[in-house]
Amino acid sequence: MATFSRLIRAIVFDFDGLILDTEEPVYRSWLEVYQAHGEDLPFERWVQIVGSTTAGFHPQHHLEERLGRPLPKEVLDRRIDRRTEMVLAQKVLPGVVRHIDDAKAMGLKLGVASSSTTVWVRGHLARLGILDRFDCMRCRDDVANAKPEPDLYIAVLDCLGVLASEAIAIEDSPNGVLAAKRAGLRCVAIPNSITAGLDLGQADVQLASLADVTLAELLSKLSAG
Ligand SMILES: [Mg+2]
Repeated sequence: MATFSRLIRAIVFDFDGLILDTEEPVYRSWLEVYQAHGEDLPFERWVQIVGSTTAGFHPQHHLEERLGRPLPKEVLDRRIDRRTEMVLAQKVLPGVVRHIDDAKAMGLKLGVASSSTTVWVRGHLARLGILDRFDCMRCRDDVANAKPEPDLYIAVLDCLGVLASEAIAIEDSPNGVLAAKRAGLRCVAIPNSITAGLDLGQADVQLASLADVTLAELLSKLSAG
């Protein structure tokens, strides 16, 4: 444990569904649109895009195909408003700030690797008052491929100036875990309401909440795993 802890120089956080539960609001905002049109939103298709982009499943295009017509602009605008309203009602997920504090106290660097846009991630981190805690951030507009490809993790490791073996990733989705593992990082999975039933088995350690452990305990679990 002591040796392993000394090796670790950085923690890389995912954003959506890990720092802030944006996943439930985004899903719910689309579910409401589908329900208002008498259609089912297929959850097995939805989860393909969690932690990634809408390249694999585009809810708007899918629903428009089902209906045989484009969705009016006011429906799309109202969906965004509902999503924003629900996201703004969320607080930083339990344990996140303490892990940031613990990492700083241990002299570790902190990064964010997100399949969302820089505007989205920076905006929320600034609003939550934790943007300046992170040394580096890489988002989908910085790289060629979003998660589950390793590009975001490779880019953030480069920016932090650490090796994959010197960093751990914390993720909430299968796409995120896969991206971290493909980049060679050890990965902790913390599922949320959307990802709880999904296979996060590729992670080195899975926990119900970051609030359940201190960072030292988390490193100990990773060392044992
Ligand atoms: Mg995520």
